[in-house]
Amino acid sequence: MFNLENIIRPTIKALKPYSSARDEFQGNSDDMVFLDANENPFENGVNRYPDPQQRTVKSLLSKIKGIPQENILLGNGSDEVLDLIFRAFCEPNQDNIITLPPTYGMYSVLANINAIDIISVQLDGSFQPKVDEILKEANSNSKVLFLCSPNNPTGNSFEAKSIERLIKEFKGIVVIDEAYIDFSNDESWISRLNEFPNLVVIQTLSKAFGMAGIRLGICFASQDIISILNRIKPPYNVNELTQQKAISQLEQFEQTQQQVKEILEERNALVTKLKSVNYISKIYPSDANFVLAKVDDATKRYNQLIEKGIVIRNRTTQPGCENCLRFTIGTPRENRILIDTLKSI
Ligand code: PMP
Repeated sequence: MFNLENIIRPTIKALKPYSSARDEFQGNSDDMVFLDANENPFENGVNRYPDPQQRTVKSLLSKIKGIPQENILLGNGSDEVLDLIFRAFCEPNQDNIITLPPTYGMYSVLANINAIDIISVQLDGSFQPKVDEILKEANSNSKVLFLCSPNNPTGNSFEAKSIERLIKEFKGIVVIDEAYIDFSNDESWISRLNEFPNLVVIQTLSKAFGMAGIRLGICFASQDIISILNRIKPPYNVNELTQQKAISQLEQFEQTQQQVKEILEERNALVTKLKSVNYISKIYPSDANFVLAKVDDATKRYNQLIEKGIVIRNRTTQPGCENCLRFTIGTPRENRILIDTLKSI
């Protein structure tokens, strides 16, 4: 049986969190006099500290995603949320995490920053998790298993039955990084949070929602896990400008949906056109807003594209991605330029 008490670091369990001025008193009317936070009193739109619990942003997200606000924590990008998870559950120089390369590089970087060992179990030839091997490699210090689905840089989603088995049989926290879920036809695992006390789902406003610049990452989990992360997050981790922009964009959710539809149409069109580029030997199926393709010589093609002013990602050094390039889906014009250039080099 999963018991959160056994996973949380003792230091964090014993921690008395910082209580900020805005934690202690939230304004409930406009004519209150706030002399509690040593702010500059002259109004300029950002002279006050932001809401530490980002209630308006969360209420909009709660409506869009169908998850109660109590199950949501927001961070300065999902990278901050990932870091909070390390600091809450992984004891430096003692614990380990499991990651499945080729995948998003920050899980290992954060492990290294936090002095946490990394157990790597490479994805199989179809970029799916090797469930038996992962469970075999896990030990009593394996605190977090990171599943990135749809996976970056491969673009595919992991099979639901593999994910479910891992959530059920792995003894620690299972983080599903769904940064690209809004481009996928698969259902998000947030709909199953109530079933699994060890499940954490991470999403972001950086991809489908078009707000990479404001840095807003979303963590969905049980109330118990959310309250632990709340104890250690910096009090004002999501700034006022970010909250304001997120609110105005989330209020126009239809625009996001329309853009996602267009990006997916463009992705399908791009895949068709990539097939006619003679040095591309394989195009991997994608549930994301990018496509991974195998070419004859990735580094040569990457440099040729740079010379023509097009920047893509060379993933050739990633395990299982020899000679692979990753193309983000751009505007119709950008995609046209990409195809024309690929054909001309
Ligand atoms: N997870 C994955 C799989 C990503 O690809 C990225 C960004 N490249 C992130 C998380 C980070 O997202 P954010 O901008 O919210 O920090």
